[in-house]
This record gives sequence, C-alpha cells and structure tokens, in this order.
Amino acid sequence: MTLDARLLDVVRATKGFMPEEEGDALYAAALEGGRVGPLLEIGTYCGKSAVYLGAAARERGTVAFSVDHHRGSEENQAGWEHHDHEVVDPATGRMDTLPFFRRAIEAAGLEDVIVGVVGHSLPIARAWRTPLGFLFIDGGHAEDIAMGDYEGWARHVAPGGVLAIHDVFDNPDDGGQAPFHVWQRAVADGFEPDAINGSLRTLRRPQ
Ligand code: SAH
Ligand code: MG
Repeated sequence: MTLDARLLDVVRATKGFMPEEEGDALYAAALEGGRVGPLLEIGTYCGKSAVYLGAAARERGTVAFSVDHHRGSEENQAGWEHHDHEVVDPATGRMDTLPFFRRAIEAAGLEDVIVGVVGHSLPIARAWRTPLGFLFIDGGHAEDIAMGDYEGWARHVAPGGVLAIHDVFDNPDDGGQAPFHVWQRAVADGFEPDAINGSLRTLRRPQ
C-alpha cells in the first residue's frame, strides 16, 4: 500500500525514522485497524509516521492520535546515535520537535485528522478510555520505557484491532532488544502475529 504522490513528498521532506517500505506496511496495517476504531501512535518525533497514519485515518473516516512529549528519547539526545542538532530549541538548548510535526501535518493537509497529544506517554495512557483500532508503539527504546508503553497502551486495543511495533530486531547484532521483548510479550498475552516488514511487526487482538 503506497501513499499518494503528494503525501509521499511530505513524508520524504520530514525528518524521522521510518524507511519507506516500512511506512507502506504501516499504512496498510493502519487501514486495517482503522476499520475497527481510531488510530494512536506513541512517538511522533517530526511527524513522518503520523502522515501515514493520518492518510489511513482519513480513508477510514476516523482520527489518528500521535503522542509525544517532543523532548526526544534518550537515543535522540546530543552525543547519541540518533541526534539531530536542528531539532534543538536554541532558546533552551532542549529538543523540541513539535514545530516540525506541526509543519509536516500542515504540509500534508492532515490537520483535521491527526491529533497531536503533547505529553508523557504513561499518564496519558492511564487517563485514556477510547478503544483503539490501531496502536503503533514507536516511543523510547529503553527496556523500561518500551515495556511501559506496552503495558499502558496495549489494553486499549479493541478486539479485532491491530498492534504495530517498530524497530523489532530478533538478532541483538541488528539493534536493541526492547521492542523485540515487547513483541514477545504481546504474543504471550494473546495477540496474534500478523506481518513482518523489515523491523515493523504487526499483530492482531482476537475478536
Ligand atoms: N515515529 C517517528 C519516530 C519516533 S522517535 C517517525 O516516524 O519518525 C521516538 C519519539 O518518542 C521521540 O520523539 C521521543 O520524544 C518520544 N518519546 C520517548 N519516550 C516518550 C515518552 N515516555 N512519552 C512520550 N514520548 C516519548
Ligand atoms: Mg522507530
């Protein structure tokens, strides 16, 4: 499943961590989940994956929530592998990806279907009440953060809904293991493995 050309241009111009093939798979999975209910992702960054989710939400007549405190994960901070000095706010010296996200969804024309939720994942998860058709976990990749996101959010996936997890590597030589542990936990909890595309894995909650 591929985005239309105009949205693909926006995705390509947006900073982030979503290879195009995985983005296509994310879009396809979001279209499936969007049949069941609204979409939600943890880990907006600059909005790259949000554009895929927004496109799917529009097609399904629903909305896509995108949760992030916009201060970056540990691995996005200065001195770490995934740091980009352009997303540091010169006034404070702290990361702030919110303006980039706003520009991306504006350029995509998706401001009416993508809802930015700015804050820490866990308190939002605790207050959340709406069953989700699609949940995408792509926040912090430290073991406690990733597993916390799963524990906070997976229970909101409706029967028949889709759970997607990014950066899953079963071989430690290829990347950190926390998302893989989350995937294993989801399987143990009864989510049924669906597809694998690169490091993107999708599962479904049985009806
Ligand atoms: N999906 C994005 C990449 C997300 S990077 C893309 O397509 O490019 C991970 C993001 O998770 C970072 O922006 C970071 O700020 C956010 N994050 C990490 N831990 C978080 C937490 N506990 N609560 C909210 N956001 C968090
Ligand atoms: Mg990722």
